[in-house]
Amino acid sequence: YTQAKALVFSKYGEPSDVLKLHTHSISPSISQCSILVRSLAAPINPADINTIQGTYGSKPAFTSLIGTAEPSVTPGNEGVFEVVSVGSTSSELRKGDWVIPAVSQIGTWRTHAVFDSSQLLKVAREGLTPTQVATVSVNPCSAYKMLRCYGPSDGLKAGLAMKPLDVGSGQWFIQNGANSGVGRAAIQFGKLWGLRSINVVRDRTSSEETEALKLELQQLGADVVVSESQFLSRYWKEQLADITRNGRDSVGLALNCVGGKSATTLARALGDGGTLVSYGGMSRQPVSLPVGLLIFKDIRFVGFWLSNWNERDPVGKRHMVDDILDMTRQGKFTDIPIEEVPWSWNTGEKQLQEAVQSGLTGFRSGKGVFLF
Ligand code: NDP
Repeated sequence: YTQAKALVFSKYGEPSDVLKLHTHSISPSISQCSILVRSLAAPINPADINTIQGTYGSKPAFTSLIGTAEPSVTPGNEGVFEVVSVGSTSSELRKGDWVIPAVSQIGTWRTHAVFDSSQLLKVAREGLTPTQVATVSVNPCSAYKMLRCYGPSDGLKAGLAMKPLDVGSGQWFIQNGANSGVGRAAIQFGKLWGLRSINVVRDRTSSEETEALKLELQQLGADVVVSESQFLSRYWKEQLADITRNGRDSVGLALNCVGGKSATTLARALGDGGTLVSYGGMSRQPVSLPVGLLIFKDIRFVGFWLSNWNERDPVGKRHMVDDILDMTRQGKFTDIPIEEVPWSWNTGEKQLQEAVQSGLTGFRSGKGVFLF
């Protein structure tokens, strides 16, 4: 029998109140299509915390599969596992292979698990660290999809349709939350694909720290980085006119991670027919849409949800993951700064709860990642 531990919750609430560490054992006789895995790394993403709070858009199923007293959910939407054993020798998976979740919400915050082979995607592990593989499928894939699939409308020619930004054209996009996992990935893909980015970050407690963050993002490939105070000030309009040569190089796409005033200001930076894609709401403020932008500039406001894309296009997901991991191997794509959260057999419930609870606080030096 394999002894396993899993973080679980049986009711919605704050992670420090509702997350429990559950110990259970896994039988060595697993069914034909099952795979026993051990975890290597799993990040703590904002969406995971919202799932525990019960505020996330899709609700997980509570089950008694791992023998909790009350039906429970194991959170964690991404991570990397090593295959320990396979139920059938005809499986394409072998002991020692690295796998990531193929589907949403399989629950990665646990030391071991048994999954159906259809729930897993094999990745070529050569030249990669567990952290790089564990963090590939949510943030980088979201940035990849949004930059590749969204852009300005083609005017009346295309009716309501939009076309993606032209790769290699130097076309501008703008984003807030630029230092987030998604934002950092968008900066790097933008650079690699010949696009230009305007990046908004929140002011740090000192101007030195703000400048240091700007520099960090420039080193990743950001063309312009502005602090939120600059962006929301009345001088921004002039600055933007300089950047876009008075609108001759218009901004075709805006990526909104934050909502509120920041999102409205992104929308105002768009050129005619530009699209604002909202994928996150970190400020918890609604997005207000100036009617003039809708009428006179024909700006489009759309939402993005990666899970939906992945469900509709699993083959596309596989290619995208392989492509990003190739870029990582070649040193063209840098993974995010992380705060390691070691999870060994003796790690206590409190420590794990706290690591999760702090995941939604701002101004972090890196994303929490459980390392097993
Ligand atoms: P990270 O944990 O990497 O970064 C969080 C970001 O949010 C940082 O830029 C941080 O800025 C900012 N932030 C934190 N608190 C606030 C606040 N109160 N107001 C404004 N900004 C704040 O995040 P991810 O990249 O993993 O996720 C970012 C968002 O994208 C989340 O809302 C997430 O749910 C969403 N997302 C959505 C997906 C989809 O399919 N729709 C897929 C992936 C992510 P600072 O450093 O200044 O605190």
